[in-house]
Amino acid sequence: MIKNNKKIPALLVGKGLPKYDEIKHEDINKFIPILINELKANLSSLEEILDNKLKAKALLKWNEVIKPINEIEDRLKWSWGLISHLNSVCNSSELREAYSNQQPEVIKFGNKFSQSEIIYNSLLKLNNDDDSLDKTQKRILKKELNAMKHSGVGLNSSEKEIFNSITQKLAELSNNFSNNVLDSTNNWSLLLTTKEEVEGLPTRILETFSTAAKAAGQKASDGKSDPTPEKGPWRIGLDMPSYIPFLTYAKKRSLRETAYKAYVSRASEGLLNNKEIIEQILSLRREQAQILGYDNWADLSLESKMAKSTTEVEQLLEELRAAAIIVAQKELKELKAIAQRNGATEEANNLAPWDISYWSEKLRQEKYHLDKEALRPWFPLPQVLNGLFGLCEKLFDIKVVPSSKPNIPKWHKDVQMFDVFDKDGTELASFYLDPYSRSATKRGGAWMDECLTRKKDSNNKIVLPVAYLICNQTPPLENTPSLMSFEEVETLFHEFGHGLQHMLTKVDYPQAAGINNIEWDAVELPSQFMENWCLDRSTLMDMAKHWETGEQLAEDEFNKLRLSRTFNSGMSTLRQVHFALTDLKLHSEWDKSLGITPDELRRQIATSSTVLQPIKEDQFLCSFSHIFAGGYSAGYYSYKWAEVLSADAFSAFEEVGLEKTPLVKETGKRFRETVLSMGGSRPPQEIFKKFRGRSPSTKALIRHSGLTA
Ligand code: ZN
Repeated sequence: MIKNNKKIPALLVGKGLPKYDEIKHEDINKFIPILINELKANLSSLEEILDNKLKAKALLKWNEVIKPINEIEDRLKWSWGLISHLNSVCNSSELREAYSNQQPEVIKFGNKFSQSEIIYNSLLKLNNDDDSLDKTQKRILKKELNAMKHSGVGLNSSEKEIFNSITQKLAELSNNFSNNVLDSTNNWSLLLTTKEEVEGLPTRILETFSTAAKAAGQKASDGKSDPTPEKGPWRIGLDMPSYIPFLTYAKKRSLRETAYKAYVSRASEGLLNNKEIIEQILSLRREQAQILGYDNWADLSLESKMAKSTTEVEQLLEELRAAAIIVAQKELKELKAIAQRNGATEEANNLAPWDISYWSEKLRQEKYHLDKEALRPWFPLPQVLNGLFGLCEKLFDIKVVPSSKPNIPKWHKDVQMFDVFDKDGTELASFYLDPYSRSATKRGGAWMDECLTRKKDSNNKIVLPVAYLICNQTPPLENTPSLMSFEEVETLFHEFGHGLQHMLTKVDYPQAAGINNIEWDAVELPSQFMENWCLDRSTLMDMAKHWETGEQLAEDEFNKLRLSRTFNSGMSTLRQVHFALTDLKLHSEWDKSLGITPDELRRQIATSSTVLQPIKEDQFLCSFSHIFAGGYSAGYYSYKWAEVLSADAFSAFEEVGLEKTPLVKETGKRFRETVLSMGGSRPPQEIFKKFRGRSPSTKALIRHSGLTA
């Protein structure tokens, strides 16, 4: 226990903005075990109180059950969330070690909680006892009970034993799966030594390849000096930043073929073979689902999602497939035609999977003359932020300004805090923006996370939400602001969409405020929705001004951006549909007794969901980490599912006319009052209907993707 007369360590304060700069990595090993022990004791005494009430058949009230549970969860979330955050943005080997030291205990504590029969029975009884519960409270209870059920709380002890051992085994198999993918990716390389072999590759890429050769201990042809981008040698690998540009630019077809075959056959033979692991994972998942009373893993997975059944998901995927395949076939023809125009007759007649990226890039340049790098000077960060905040003011009647609060704690000098106010001046929320990449210490990618969630504190005072918005965009130079690529602008808008849902919530129960309690397949609605505005003429033109001259982006460039949006979208949609269908069928239909391998099932699906059939070396499932080592099993469809929602939501604005400000404002207000305010307090289909006046339709996504016939 921490004594009252001592200063509470920064890591254990448990409320308000964390004091990032006061946290040392040694504090983690010192204080997290203390915290966990304290919480374990709290949990035990809560269980004792509840157990007595259950035995006495006393009526249970919300505040007697949920409030103390939330207090325990909140304490852990505050401290552990802070450490996870620092681990992502201020990483160091010491911090990483402390983090992984403590993580198992944190997870174990979580399991103790979710498998507590006393807690489960109390929630169940509360659900029956308390008739003053509102709809949000009912929904929170229902989801919590469901999650506990899926963790195996309701099983008898012998079932629980089998269930828990499968959980352990599955974790081990997933870990082996991803290690095999990682090792087989790293084990392959191709060393190129002549100019002819690297023909077509841009200098920036050659630099990456010669640096990789140097790192692997290679010397130039004289045997002494280091490799150079001009003279090589060049080393190609199967990691994304190496493989993708090689397939896109390498002129020599046979080398593209070699690299492609190596890529698609990763982890499918020899010691690093995932085929058996895949069958084991699928069988164990099915077994676990059946122990819980479901037919198969897909049914179990879908029970906590917005989609109601595999049939419903299949219907959506079929609509997209039918629309995309026609367009994809046309795109394939265009690729053959450009190969022909460039004199590559053999390629035109027998276009292979390793030719797609190469000829697509040639076609993209021919069609749009779009040099995306050259657009950066029109997107300096401050200007882009003005544009984004201006858009939010127009749509949602909020004001976003740099925070004027004194002494804001920060974890890095580049971090800025902004405050969000309602039209009448009421403060609503704040967010931290950490925009630039810091390669050595900051995790890649972009994300929104919760710093503080909206709730009522112990004195019934509202705690306002605070968000972390983390990007990894191009840092500023000495005299130049951060000049963003168009993709970086889209990413910022995307994360800000998540942030808006977190910050504009009106729900006071933290379990359903902001993005909490929202189904996995609906959570990308506001983020993908915001991305759409990047290509809205007035939004884009408002922010796209040259950072030195103030000159506006040329109409012509704007049009190129707009047109290129749907380039090859038939093939890319089809690819996502193929993956989603394969994932779904493996988790609903595949079983050893089916008499075919998972790969054979995938090939059956491919006959109607690809335009180039997978070659025999293509063992894609062996590296499909999303579903075998990530959280997407029977959920890969979520990407497209949420895109249907976001495109349909945006089309509500298109229907009233994007240039008609009063109508756009009215629609924006409705979006704020439904999707952004209600968060996880109601089922997503109900919220969507409230906004759109009807159920979601795929029409808008099909149109936006240019897939209409
Ligand atoms: Zn997102």
